[in-house]
Amino acid sequence: MRHSRIHAGGAAVALGVCGLAAGPTALAQSGGGGAVFVAKPEISKVACVRRCGSKKRAQGGSTLRITGSALDGVVKIVFRGSHGSSDDTSARVRGGSSKRLSVRVPIGAVSGPLSAMVSRAVQSPPTEPVAILPPPPPEPNTELSPVPGVPQLETGTSRTKAFVDARRAVTFSFRLSGAAPSDVAVELVRAADGAAVKTWHPAPEPDAVTDVSWNGRIGSSGARPGRYSFRLTASGGSGATVRSAGLEEATRDTFDLYDNMFPIRGRHNYGQSGARFGTGRAGHSHQGQDVFARCGTPLVAARGGRVKFKQYHAAAGYYLVIDAAGTGEDYAYMHMAEPSPFSPGDRVYTGQRIGAVGDTGNARGCHLHFELWRAPGWYDGGKPFDPLPSLKAWDAWS
Ligand SMILES: [Zn+2]
Repeated sequence: MRHSRIHAGGAAVALGVCGLAAGPTALAQSGGGGAVFVAKPEISKVACVRRCGSKKRAQGGSTLRITGSALDGVVKIVFRGSHGSSDDTSARVRGGSSKRLSVRVPIGAVSGPLSAMVSRAVQSPPTEPVAILPPPPPEPNTELSPVPGVPQLETGTSRTKAFVDARRAVTFSFRLSGAAPSDVAVELVRAADGAAVKTWHPAPEPDAVTDVSWNGRIGSSGARPGRYSFRLTASGGSGATVRSAGLEEATRDTFDLYDNMFPIRGRHNYGQSGARFGTGRAGHSHQGQDVFARCGTPLVAARGGRVKFKQYHAAAGYYLVIDAAGTGEDYAYMHMAEPSPFSPGDRVYTGQRIGAVGDTGNARGCHLHFELWRAPGWYDGGKPFDPLPSLKAWDAWS
């Protein structure tokens, strides 16, 4: 059995990983074209040692000490996130030996297994999931305030936490005083790598507030979760250029983007072992995770998309299935207190209320039965997978 232990309150969080089946060596190509044996790395323990969150838990920006074997060839640590590969991040390792190395947790990393990578072909087996808290929140900057050193420019950002595909997007507002600027660009900069992932060219009136809104998407898919900042550059009539902030200023007009919101908006618990995905049910296995909460607790869409089914079923009660935009995955919500106000074909946004926790159908106690299905989706050729790691990650930041 694999298992993990969290030693809270001690010197470090220890994550024990045992019984991994991988062999000690793997074949790799050397630079000269000949085959050489490269030891396959293994991670036995992950501990947060610097800039940790409460109870020594890891968060974006923390330094982790990774202990194991054959670590000397490792060039990066991959943070595999909650599900799928869209939330994977990686970080280059810093110094170390065959038994030990250090790595900085990327700002956008979310809870999930880690693996140590020598090359694409040579990687350690994934560890048990490591809990990664969201990074410390950015400073609120929701009202327009003058940019230090640039008195003619005020900026503000509507929120410090945003969700992919939410209806109420994050909004950047600014006001330029004086002469009409000739060329204004607002860039959305991703903190993890400094890349400008989106650029707007608004045409502001002098002395008026201009807004730029973003829905957490780039094209048809969700942007990578993590920290982002808005940066404005404007050329004045005189040819002088003003900037709202440099890249080094990480707190101004900054917010954190998350890919899903926890669907139950109230107190809840994950129940006993029978609530887990894969446990036995009469004639089948449990295809989701049950999460218990008072009947009537609001339910929201964990991820926006289009409603695929709304029905009543003797076992599932009132239920709703949403095809999550841009992911190919389907999200199913069951035992709802009453029929959802949404119907098949309706567009639903992340965080929008879809109903309430109930006990309709075959339910013992008020709870949400929640399922996640891989593409192509719910009873459409897809397969359900264990939603608990995802739910716990969303729970931590929502
Ligand atoms: Zn269930």
